[in-house]
Amino acid sequence: MIGTGFKPNTDFLNIEAAKINLDERQYVKVYEYLETSNPHIWAIGDVVGKQQITHMALRESKIVLNNIFSDNKRRVQFEDIPFAVFTEPIIGSVGKTEEQLKKSGISYKISQTELPRCSRGYIMGLKRGYVKILHNQKEIFGCHIIGEDADNLIHEIVPLIGQFNGWEIFLNTIYAHPTLSEIFTRLPPESKVL
Ligand SMILES: Cc1cc2nc3c(=O)[nH]c(=O)nc-3n(C[C@H](O)[C@H](O)[C@H](O)COP(=O)(O)OP(=O)(O)OC[C@H]3O[C@@H](n4cnc5c(N)ncnc54)[C@H](O)[C@@H]3O)c2cc1C
Repeated sequence: MIGTGFKPNTDFLNIEAAKINLDERQYVKVYEYLETSNPHIWAIGDVVGKQQITHMALRESKIVLNNIFSDNKRRVQFEDIPFAVFTEPIIGSVGKTEEQLKKSGISYKISQTELPRCSRGYIMGLKRGYVKILHNQKEIFGCHIIGEDADNLIHEIVPLIGQFNGWEIFLNTIYAHPTLSEIFTRLPPESKVL
């Protein structure tokens, strides 16, 4: 499979006539409330060139509706958006990668485990499946899962990203047995990179 990237088709729209500016990559330039340089025109989705995934376009549509009709304007957040890659094995991911954390100079610990290590993974006969959480034992920075149900499992972590006591939830939550979600109780507080 080859991913060739996205290219906006804005060049033949005569967009200047609407007084809308494009950015340097020819995407529609939007500001903090998703308004364009023409205050009567708003833009969402792939054409703004940020997070080009359906759930982001849907979120942006709700924010724009709010911002058009309400004085209580909402900003859009383009960071820490979860995504799934529906390959075999499936990938689920949210938050920062190790590369991003290193670049930002944020120190972090790695906790990792494998799906066959929880009861359900064993019962299912899973031979592989990898879960990695990047954190500082208080805050969770990112989570990356490859394997069975990764696209669903990642949502256990989505609400915890950026929460100050996010890591503690694994100590306090009771997970139904036997589920793949129990894998989060099998995470050592810190482990070496494999
Ligand atoms: C192969 C592939 C797989 C993907 N898989 C996923 C996935 O699994 N999960 C996920 O979240 N996202 C996925 N995406 C991304 C997702 O499709 C887009 O992020 C999402 O559709 C963006 O919505 P949009 O409304 O901005 O644009 P679109 O859905 O592309 O809608 C734009 C519409 O505008 C129309 N249009 C274009 N130019 C003009 C014009 N001049 N006049 C009138 N109409 C025009 C187009 O025909 C189109 O109907 C995938 C994308 C691709 C290409």
